[in-house]
Amino acid sequence: MAQQIKSPNVEKNKFKNPYFSVLGVLVIVILFTILWRPLNLDRTVYVPLNPQAETTVTDNPHSSVVVGDGKIEMVDSKASKQLTESSDIPEDEIAKDELDDIIDDKDNTVQYTIARGDTLHDILLRYNVNKNDVYQLTTKFKQLANLRIGQQISWTTDDDHNLQSFSWTISSNNIRIYEKSGDKFVESSETADGVPQDIVIKGEIKSNFVADARKSGLTSSEIGIITRALQWRLDFRRLQIGDKFLVLLSREMHGKRMSNSQLLGVRIKNGSKDYYAILADDGKYYDINGGSLAQSFVRYPLSKRARVSSAFNPRRLHPITGQVTPHNGVDFAVSRGTPVLSVGNGEVVIAKYSGSAGNYIAIRHGRQYMTTYMHLDKILVKSGQQVKQGDKIALSGNTGRSTGPHLHFELHINNKPVNPLTASLPISEGLTGKSKNAFIAKVKNIKPQLSL
Ligand SMILES: [Zn+2]
Repeated sequence: MAQQIKSPNVEKNKFKNPYFSVLGVLVIVILFTILWRPLNLDRTVYVPLNPQAETTVTDNPHSSVVVGDGKIEMVDSKASKQLTESSDIPEDEIAKDELDDIIDDKDNTVQYTIARGDTLHDILLRYNVNKNDVYQLTTKFKQLANLRIGQQISWTTDDDHNLQSFSWTISSNNIRIYEKSGDKFVESSETADGVPQDIVIKGEIKSNFVADARKSGLTSSEIGIITRALQWRLDFRRLQIGDKFLVLLSREMHGKRMSNSQLLGVRIKNGSKDYYAILADDGKYYDINGGSLAQSFVRYPLSKRARVSSAFNPRRLHPITGQVTPHNGVDFAVSRGTPVLSVGNGEVVIAKYSGSAGNYIAIRHGRQYMTTYMHLDKILVKSGQQVKQGDKIALSGNTGRSTGPHLHFELHINNKPVNPLTASLPISEGLTGKSKNAFIAKVKNIKPQLSL
C-alpha cells in the first residue's frame, strides 16, 4: 500500500506536468478515503457484524447475513454485495441441529430455577428477551431484585421475543404475575390452589433425543434443562436407538397455566452407562454423588495476562456512519507468535483463513458455549479435532484486516456474543458439607423413582 501511495508523487515530481499533479492528488484522495475509515475504527480494524446494516457476507453462493436480532438469514450473494462490510465470522459454517434450536430457546414459554449468581436482567437477556421489556419490568418492580436461589420463574414471549407475561413463585402460596398490558407491565398475585405432583416420564430413543423426548410429553423448556445439565457428560447426538431416559418432574397446574414445574432429576441410559442430573437446593444440577456436571473455563486464552487494546462493546458507534458496529470480542495486545490457548475442553469447528478475520479458529464447548480466536499467525489444530483446556491451538498474529499484532477473542453463550472478561462462566465445583448431605438424602428419595 505504501508503495502505491508513493508512486503518483514520484511521477508528479518527475514530470512536473499539471495532468500528473491532478492525477496524483486524485489517487491520493481515493487511497486516503479507502484507508481512512478502517484506521479510524480502533486498533483492531476487524469490522464485526453490523446488526443495523445487515453486513456480514461470506464468499459462498448463499451467504449468511446477520440481521438485527442476531439471527442468521441466508441471502443471495449478488443481492447482498452492496451490504458487504466484512466477512469475519462465517457462522453458517458451524453445523446446527435440532438441539441448537432447543438451546436457543425457540420455545415461547420458559421455566427457570434461580441459581447462584443469577440476576433477572441477565437471565432474560441470555434468553433473548426484548431488552426494552426487560428494562421496563426490572425498573418498575424493584422487588424482582430479591429472587432467591432455588425459586422458580417462568415467562412467555411472542415470536419477536417481546415479553408477554412473567411469573415468580416466591412460595407455593405466593405467586406474583406480571402481565403486559399496552406497553406496561401490571402486577397481580395468586395463591397456589394446585397441589404439586411428582410425575415420572419415561421414554426410549427411536429417532433422536429431542423428537422422542417431545413425544414422551416433555416441553422444550424441560428438554433444554436436560441437555444443558448434561452437556459436558454426554453427547446427545451419540445416543443410540433403544437407549432410555427417565425424568422426574414436579408439576403444579392452575387452570391451564403451569406455574411451578420443576425438573427434579433425570437419568439417561446410554448403552450400559447411566448419566444422572439431580436438582440440588442451590438450583443447580449435580451428578448422583453431588459432583459437578459443569466444565470449567479459564478467563484468558493466553498463558500471561496481556493489555486489552480494545474492549468488548456491543454498542460501539461507527465514527462515520454513526451506526452501531459492535466489537463482539476483546483484543489482547500480544506480539506475533504468542501461544494461544483454548479456554476450555471442546471441539474445533472452524480452523481456516477467513477474509478479514485472518487465520481463524472457532471452538465449541458443550452445547452452549463457543469461543473464537482471530488474526492468528499460525493455526495448530484442525477442524473436528477435540481439544483440552490449555491446549496450544495457535500462534497469535496480524493476519486479515488488522493494523497490528493482537489476538481478537470472542465468547458466545447460546449463540450470542458476551463480554469474555466479565461473563459468568460455569464453575465445576461439587457440593460439600451440609449441602452435600442434604443432596445425598434427596438422591435416596429420587433415585428409586428413576428406576427402569
Ligand atoms: Zn477485536
